[in-house]
Amino acid sequence: MYKDIATPIRTKEILEKYGFSFKKSLGQNFLIDPNILRNIVSHANLTENSGAIEVGPGIGALTEHLAREAKKVVSFEIDQRLLPVLEDTLSPYNNVKIVHSDILKADVEQVIAEEMPGIEDIMVVANLPYYVTTPILMKLLNDRLPIRGFVVMMQKEVADRITAKPGTKAYGSLSIAIQYYVTAEIAMIVPKTVFMPQPNVDSAVIRLIKHETPPVKVIDEDFLFEVSRASFAQRRKTILNNLQNGLVNGKQNKELIIQALAEAGIDPSRRGETLSIQEFGKLSDCLHPAFC
Ligand code: SAM
Repeated sequence: MYKDIATPIRTKEILEKYGFSFKKSLGQNFLIDPNILRNIVSHANLTENSGAIEVGPGIGALTEHLAREAKKVVSFEIDQRLLPVLEDTLSPYNNVKIVHSDILKADVEQVIAEEMPGIEDIMVVANLPYYVTTPILMKLLNDRLPIRGFVVMMQKEVADRITAKPGTKAYGSLSIAIQYYVTAEIAMIVPKTVFMPQPNVDSAVIRLIKHETPPVKVIDEDFLFEVSRASFAQRRKTILNNLQNGLVNGKQNKELIIQALAEAGIDPSRRGETLSIQEFGKLSDCLHPAFC
């Protein structure tokens, strides 16, 4: 077993050796606590036959823990300056592939096909760059990758919104957009002290496991998300009000919205935050003929 990259001493040594300076604009807050890393990886339930996709390996702190548990690790890193560092720090591991790319522009499905042939169990495991947490998650979900799920660190406030249940303050269109694809739970809360440099916000690790079938069947997924976005636009307004303001031609079609709400069994004076994903599904199907 090699000495962990993620101890504060070794991290400092590596940073000094390469004269590396953190770029705040790339969300570079590196983990310096091997216990947290072990904990993150344990939530992914990897086996020696699993594959792990990582976004942003940094200097390889999490990557090496993944490499010890999984058959193959593929890590996407945007910052070219980190490539020689990773070549050095990860040299003990022959099951890691670093892809120099912005994850948002990468053809991840193609990379999985090339780098993980025959691997059936694949998890995304990452300490995400906080400035693009949501776009990264939405891209990876929309790409319909052959993965089991995600174990990812992010700012706690976003983790709360992603995992929120109806009737709570944090519940909103992001909760619906993510929970349509996965079951979502907070796996652990992480203190600021385990990062270098320390971020300004609290962090949490969430676990997302893909549904075998969606929690609700709808005619048009994009329209479901449009209806949920419109319903949460002004949280203190009723669902009827928000749909009138938020749907294209909603104002001219108040009667059709009232009719669709009745058909879906939803009181027009309710607020969006009280509706379950199943109710949003039913409502979007009832609105669909009039608005699509
Ligand atoms: N995994 C390392 C750790 O836990 O110590 C580093 C995590 S750091 C929070 C985020 C990493 O993502 C950085 O290495 C950063 O350069 C990289 N990154 C930022 N934006 C990216 C993007 N769009 N695509 C790929 N990597 C990105």
